[in-house]
Amino acid sequence: MRAARRKKSRQELIFKMVLAVLFAAIPAVTGGVVWRVAAGRSVKPVIEEVAAPKKTVRTPPEYEEALLSINEYSRPGTALEEVKGIVIHYTANPGTTARQNRDYFEGLGLSKDTYASSHYIVGIEGEVIQCIPCEEMAYASNERNADTIAIECCIPDDTGKFTEKTYRTLLHLTAWLMGTYGLEIDDVIRHYDVTQKECPKYYVQYPLEWEKLKEDIAEYIEAYGE
Ligand SMILES: [Zn+2]
Repeated sequence: MRAARRKKSRQELIFKMVLAVLFAAIPAVTGGVVWRVAAGRSVKPVIEEVAAPKKTVRTPPEYEEALLSINEYSRPGTALEEVKGIVIHYTANPGTTARQNRDYFEGLGLSKDTYASSHYIVGIEGEVIQCIPCEEMAYASNERNADTIAIECCIPDDTGKFTEKTYRTLLHLTAWLMGTYGLEIDDVIRHYDVTQKECPKYYVQYPLEWEKLKEDIAEYIEAYGE
């Protein structure tokens, strides 16, 4: 009896030692490979993929908030359904400032000339005025008014090309809005892409310049995002 028990306990000891050696060896053999038991039947090595975290520009450029009065012609006070895009425009009004364009929108409430406005206006000195809260609809982008944020850009001359300062501020503003609403670069569109209207003029006439602008926004996010 005693001999049999000793033999059994020696066998158990050997068995435990073999197990210990095996377990100790597993991490050394597998290295960076993670073993996963699939449905309890097979064991497959899986290389873990780690996606690069998406960068976000967390702060907006400096801007002045000069909200329009609620009126039928430029600030209807209607809530945006959701934000699925950002639409870039130009003012078609060479030499005018962001403030002048903002005041023009405000004046539509009285003149009743037309329906027009924009959430933001970027001036030729790079200044920014917000005219409409982002939770509300602007009259800028026709059938995309209900689900987009509009940015008007001022222009120094008839070519419609943005100044360097306007351009840099537009990159920053658009990058920040993309981060705020979780948008991709292809969610940034021209007014032209909605209605075929020649707006923003220079970036419709020169499609490569538009592509460059989008690339520059993506680069801005890479450079300044967190
Ligand atoms: Zn437009």
